[in-house]
Amino acid sequence: MKDNEKKLQEMTKMKEENDKLMLRIEIILGLILFVFFMAVVMISSLIEMSDSERLLILVSGLLLFLIASFFLLEMEQKAGYYECGKCHHKYVPTYKSVLLAMHIGRTRYMKCPECGEKSWQKKVLK
Ligand SMILES: [Zn+2]
Repeated sequence: MKDNEKKLQEMTKMKEENDKLMLRIEIILGLILFVFFMAVVMISSLIEMSDSERLLILVSGLLLFLIASFFLLEMEQKAGYYECGKCHHKYVPTYKSVLLAMHIGRTRYMKCPECGEKSWQKKVLK
């Protein structure tokens, strides 16, 4: 019994560490992605090419940026929990509700599955 509790504690701690790492990776990858996209924009305006070629490069850069953003958002959705501003219920929201929610940084305006109220919900790791 005691061993199980200890194991559970260790697992909870490991998930917390892992979540922290995931959120850090998200920021770093996000930055790299942004720099990469800006570089694509700059290079395509510097190099001599036709308008259609330039458009093609910009559109594929933007597409790559969007696809990668979806993956990064998925990482954010799975790491840690969101805490309801009204009843402080903690839960992992669906990808769709994270994607469609208004947000300021990592705080998102979502409906709580527990009390059904909409509020600004903070990302928490515990
Ligand atoms: Zn709630």
